[in-house]
Amino acid sequence: MSASSTARLNVDLAALSQNYASLKRAAGAAEVAPVVKADAYGLGMAGVAAHLARQGAKTFFVARLAEGLALRTLVGNDPVIYVLDGLTDPSAFAAQRLRPVINTPDQYQLWLQGPSEVVAALHIDTGMNRLGVRPDQIADLPAARHHGLALVMSHLACGDEPGHPMNYQQLMAFRAATDHFPGVARSLSNSSGLYLGPDYGFDLVRPGICLYGGGPFGTAHADIQPVAHLSARILQIRELKVGESVGYGASFVADRDMTLATIGLGYADGLMRSLAPLGFVTVQGERRPLTGRVSMDVFTVDVTGLHVSDRTWVEILGSSQNLDAVATAAGTIGYEVLTRLGTRVPRHYT
Ligand SMILES: *Cc1c(COP(=O)(O)O)cnc(C)c1O
Repeated sequence: MSASSTARLNVDLAALSQNYASLKRAAGAAEVAPVVKADAYGLGMAGVAAHLARQGAKTFFVARLAEGLALRTLVGNDPVIYVLDGLTDPSAFAAQRLRPVINTPDQYQLWLQGPSEVVAALHIDTGMNRLGVRPDQIADLPAARHHGLALVMSHLACGDEPGHPMNYQQLMAFRAATDHFPGVARSLSNSSGLYLGPDYGFDLVRPGICLYGGGPFGTAHADIQPVAHLSARILQIRELKVGESVGYGASFVADRDMTLATIGLGYADGLMRSLAPLGFVTVQGERRPLTGRVSMDVFTVDVTGLHVSDRTWVEILGSSQNLDAVATAAGTIGYEVLTRLGTRVPRHYT
């Protein structure tokens, strides 16, 4: 690894392909449409979306219009791109052939008044109460005569809890609501939803986190490979005497003589401060606990007994410790761990 960098994020494109293939198997006949919002969950939309397009992905989802515009230049004219935020400026969607996901009756009207080449999806809220039209608003929507409605979709609130009764309630509500749109393709499931069973697949599924090595149910699935490998270099090694303290707040006090490594990654890079009490890194194949607090640019690890130098790299996230394990140790979810990875960490695609 380059001597000039102190941290790097390796994005394993082969693992990404495997996860995409594994999701396609799990999805059965449904199309798998990758969700690449938030810079492909922090892994870099340019590297990730272009790779998935080469693997055959034909439809993508982003959250923001700006993400859709950026994605269009990355993947060219052919792929379908849906923008989850809703419809703002119909001419902007028309210019780049982006498809709005319409969330309100007003947006629906705006769509019908705008250029007829704008093809759209309609988001129906089946119980999450976040985005989408309510089922009781559907009857009042005028027919989309000259405008193409390509997809009706909804989103599961509790898909990551397979036993939650709300999954079935939303499934039933979705079926009833989509009866109003015969012949229009349907989509209900994100990553976890597509593992709830064939009933949840419909025509298209929208996985994000499982493509990137997380979940589906808050723990790693046997078929899902780690994609993000986050490592950082030791900047300095010091001998610590019993009774000496480490870092801000002197929160860690050595209970014996020990060897300490200071590593070049901190909360400004997205390493959460909350990881410190329970977090581990892997140094030369061994798990070692974090000592003291995570600082802005560095954190410290007990490396007593290991033959390390200031050229040794340690792994924070990857094969040795997967995304869900890191998230659990930090008291959060894999989505937050990935999307917080800072731009200061260079991404490499292998
Ligand atoms: C983010 C998002 C997804 C992807 O969810 P994952 O849990 O990452 O698979 C799918 N659909 C919608 C509407 C989303 O906002």
